[in-house]
Amino acid sequence: MSTGKINVTADNIFPIIKKFLYSDHEIFLRELISNAVDATTKLKQLSRMGEAKGELGDLTIKVEIDEANKQLRIIDRGVGMTAEEVDQYINQVAFSGAEDFLKKYEGKLDGADIIGHFGLGFYSAFMVASKVEIKTRSFKAESNEAVHWICEGNPEFNLEIVEQEDRGTEIILHISEDSEEFLKDSRIGELLDKYAKFMQVPIQFGTREE
Ligand code: ADP
Ligand code: MG
Repeated sequence: MSTGKINVTADNIFPIIKKFLYSDHEIFLRELISNAVDATTKLKQLSRMGEAKGELGDLTIKVEIDEANKQLRIIDRGVGMTAEEVDQYINQVAFSGAEDFLKKYEGKLDGADIIGHFGLGFYSAFMVASKVEIKTRSFKAESNEAVHWICEGNPEFNLEIVEQEDRGTEIILHISEDSEEFLKDSRIGELLDKYAKFMQVPIQFGTREE
């Protein structure tokens, strides 16, 4: 197991996420679904090019609510990430020039613009979750080797190598007390209607399929 510090040039991205994105919390789901769709689309392309070997299996993206444990999970069977990729794409958050940008635009931008500018798509999960886990196994993994990343909304994270049967990525959100609306079927159903219609990958939520 290793512990590290998320690499950001601004002091800490988390207060910025919380401060600037307050009115727009719900977009976290759009961001996580779009990452899952991207990962699945990439896998399909690699398979077509002969770079991902074997059967791809069912590529349905699943959205699950676990009310008892206050978790929302987004599961895909896309490309997944190796430990190096988690380090590169998740830990080394591209955030250069953040302070200047915020000074210049403070009050003039809404959350979606800020997320777009910094590519903070994944980190928008921390608007609604006090803790986020990533369990991911790359299509490149030779065995069942997978990565388990845990972060509790501060710049420290934990990364562990684990075993995982399925290829792909599971994002587990431990929903914060002030965001429990996102543990309700009706609320998530409404957001999927808004953000996840007409995706090129099937999305399953409860018994529903898009
Ligand atoms: P963006 O999608 O704009 O690149 P994000 O913050 O949403 O920014 O995601 C950062 C990176 O993390 C992605 O580019 C991708 O490499 C990786 N990533 C995020 N979610 C997944 C996923 N479900 N499967 C595989 N890789 C992912
Ligand atoms: Mg994204």
